Amino acid sequence: MGAKHITLIDLNNFSYYPTISMGLVARYIRDAGFSLNVISPLSNGIKSRSREKVEGKIDYYRSRIVFSQSRAVRSLIQQAEKLPYIKERFLKKRKLASTVINSIPAETDLVLISTYTENYTICKRVVSHLKSLGIPVIIGGPAFNDLNHVAQFVAIDGVNYVVGSEIDAYLGDLLRDFFAGEDVFKYPGVYSKDKHNTVNKYIFKKMDELPVPDYSDFPWDKYPNRIIPYMTGRGCSWGKCNFCTDVVLVNGRSYRSQSKEKVLSDLKALSEQVKTNIFAFTDLKLNSNVEVWNSLIDGLPKIVDNPIWFCAVHVDNRKRNGLDRETLIRAKQAGLTRISFGLETASQRLLDDMQKGTTVARLDQFVNDVKAAGISLRATMFIGYRDENADDLRQTHEFLVKNQDCFERIKLCRFQIYDLTPIKSELSPQEQQNLHARQINHQYLNSDYLREKKKILRIVNKINSKRLNEDARAFDGVM
Ligand code: SF4
Repeated sequence: MGAKHITLIDLNNFSYYPTISMGLVARYIRDAGFSLNVISPLSNGIKSRSREKVEGKIDYYRSRIVFSQSRAVRSLIQQAEKLPYIKERFLKKRKLASTVINSIPAETDLVLISTYTENYTICKRVVSHLKSLGIPVIIGGPAFNDLNHVAQFVAIDGVNYVVGSEIDAYLGDLLRDFFAGEDVFKYPGVYSKDKHNTVNKYIFKKMDELPVPDYSDFPWDKYPNRIIPYMTGRGCSWGKCNFCTDVVLVNGRSYRSQSKEKVLSDLKALSEQVKTNIFAFTDLKLNSNVEVWNSLIDGLPKIVDNPIWFCAVHVDNRKRNGLDRETLIRAKQAGLTRISFGLETASQRLLDDMQKGTTVARLDQFVNDVKAAGISLRATMFIGYRDENADDLRQTHEFLVKNQDCFERIKLCRFQIYDLTPIKSELSPQEQQNLHARQINHQYLNSDYLREKKKILRIVNKINSKRLNEDARAFDGVM
């Protein structure tokens, strides 16, 4: 049994640091006694697109097209997006598939593919090649608690199973049973062509039993910096925003935290494994557990020399959310270099409708406290939320103008409505019918709205035209 060779393909092409789940899966496979080969496309020279950069004037005009609500422009964009050839060339999917295929070792007994749904065409190509060689395939990923996605991937000819579950407690046993020809449906979230109709409700809870991830297979020499990704907890302690896809995916449902002792001990071990002092906390909301948040601020400098770290937080309404000015100053002293948060909008009416659990006043205080602490600030926000009007955009614009010196980068997106999110089920039948590329604001065509939207694009472009402060430059695009 121990002689079986497993190849693990990580199609999440992120070129800054390894994927945490792949580090854990690698650990589980090796601990179960199998030999393992990991293929991560970056190790073969495929780089993902850069995510953020210093913007210029041309980016402003590009954003005018991307955010355009003109039917003609929207139709053109939609038609272009539909052309598989353009899409594949743009996303380099064809090259990615052949690189993966050429990297699969001949002695492989089983291939595991971890993927997001956007990589469907790559999966099809790779699986078709594996089928011709008679190599079985199991596909997994965070989106496979949506049965529509399961049905799509499990139907690929050559796929044995799709797994849409947290596998931490049982992956080794499942693989042993697979090779022994035993029943694998006794494990949660295992789907086949014949069995894929039951939603998997299983949630892994024993967070302190998670092992230290094994990042030894990743191309450390090709990453711009040696950054250790780490997640102190899964899910989000708030978890109520009606548009949030993160809390409906496999490992985001319900909030579970590791203990502060376990977190610090893992970070020490990982900094020795990877030989670095840089950490990316990929928690959806690192201040979910304020006790862990405070212990990082107090404890990280004691276990690692000169730590540098960045994270995402939620500026929630709790009395003590760990984001007061004094704590942020201490966090900066403990190495917190960049912080990211979801601003979304500065209209209280819309924040309430989203169930964002915050106030504009609190957001205003936070951005100014981050600035006072000297931490680089990045925000995500969107245009086009349900019923958004010119006045909502005007308030957001005023907020951005007032606080423009607090932000280093803003990631502005068109609001999109995803499957399984509460807002999708709340849409009226007419809104459902009018969904266009997962968006609804193509209907908001009055001139006041369009004028205010243009003003937001301009101020965001102005903010994103700044050079980053020296400390945070190494992490631009990372978070
Ligand atoms: S705070 Fe962030 S992670 Fe939590 S539910 Fe809202 S959007 Fe999702």
